[in-house]
Amino acid sequence: MTDTTCRHCGRPGQIELQLTIKEGPAMTMLSCGGCEHRTWLVDGEEVSKARALAVVAGRDDFALVHKPRGS
Ligand SMILES: [Zn+2]
Repeated sequence: MTDTTCRHCGRPGQIELQLTIKEGPAMTMLSCGGCEHRTWLVDGEEVSKARALAVVAGRDDFALVHKPRGS
């Protein structure tokens, strides 16, 4: 289960987006509706935005999946 509390402003219930890549790592982006702080996770590990973007760089086989809250 992902912690959806924003570490930046403490607001709960960040929007969770999952990036699905064929034969790639599981990626998640948490976006805060309060301060727009974004957290990137690769295989459950928090990484920098630059690192996360490097994972998807040059790939056209990924899809964004919006995960409804509470799932
Ligand atoms: Zn925030």
